[in-house]
Amino acid sequence: MIIEIPGYRTLEINKLVLDYNGTIAIDGDILESVKERLRILAADLDIYVLTADTHGTARQKCAGLPVTIMTFPGDSVMYEKERIIRDLGAEVSMAVGNGRNDVLMCREAVLSVAIAGREGAFSGLIAETDVTVCTVEDALDLLIKPKRLIATLRG
Ligand SMILES: [Mg+2]
Repeated sequence: MIIEIPGYRTLEINKLVLDYNGTIAIDGDILESVKERLRILAADLDIYVLTADTHGTARQKCAGLPVTIMTFPGDSVMYEKERIIRDLGAEVSMAVGNGRNDVLMCREAVLSVAIAGREGAFSGLIAETDVTVCTVEDALDLLIKPKRLIATLRG
């Protein structure tokens, strides 16, 4: 997926790297409106879900979705997420998150989006991301309707 942003840069995005809790899931559950969008985007992008899996159900809740889920319980989640996005290719990745442990991953990604949704966002993440939106649907729609992204980021 190539997105030309006048006066800024041309983005080539082929990976979407998502936090789970507070980002694609609310209280551990994924809304149908989110699943719908993930199915649309999976036609053009490889989608990864990175999570500390606070509720222990992420893998089960993502069953049947076109995503690769990566869990890593422990205290070093922030660094695990950073390592994974580097391995996947940060220069072709859009990262979406809401928490303090998403800061490094979002700093690495060529395009990053913070979600200030129902669970809130770590305030420090807002300053590290390219775009802040209210809901995960809004974040995913930036790729489905890239003119929204272009309008926000253009020079
Ligand atoms: Mg989160």
